[in-house]
Amino acid sequence: MREYKQEGSAPFRDVTRQVLFADPALASELRCFEVAPAGHTTLERHAHVHAVIVAHGRGRCLVGERIFTVAPFDLVEVPALTWHQFRADDDAPLGFLCMVNAARDRPQLPDAEAIARLCADPAVAAFIRA
Ligand code: MN
Repeated sequence: MREYKQEGSAPFRDVTRQVLFADPALASELRCFEVAPAGHTTLERHAHVHAVIVAHGRGRCLVGERIFTVAPFDLVEVPALTWHQFRADDDAPLGFLCMVNAARDRPQLPDAEAIARLCADPAVAAFIRA
């Protein structure tokens, strides 16, 4: 079990991260994230992609400009340079597996302009935590 991110380095709430699989021969990592009820991951984007499979619980995610309700076994594809954030419901945790490149660029955080652009959609404005 590892710290999700350095405390204070990026806005998130009640998230843990565990690396389940990391073999250099496969050049990818499989991680498990646990988001506590009402918790959320960081709103971010990066050049690498994610393949996320929901393992348990309930929540929603933002991918690009769309918000999806997610349930166990849903697959969420996060394309390159696409804003994304996962939130657990207020009354349930959200656990998911995330496959990612072993060698990857650092996540970018949204600046004020990017947040303003996202918030042009009221549904997205109500969803994001930044
Ligand atoms: Mn990400």
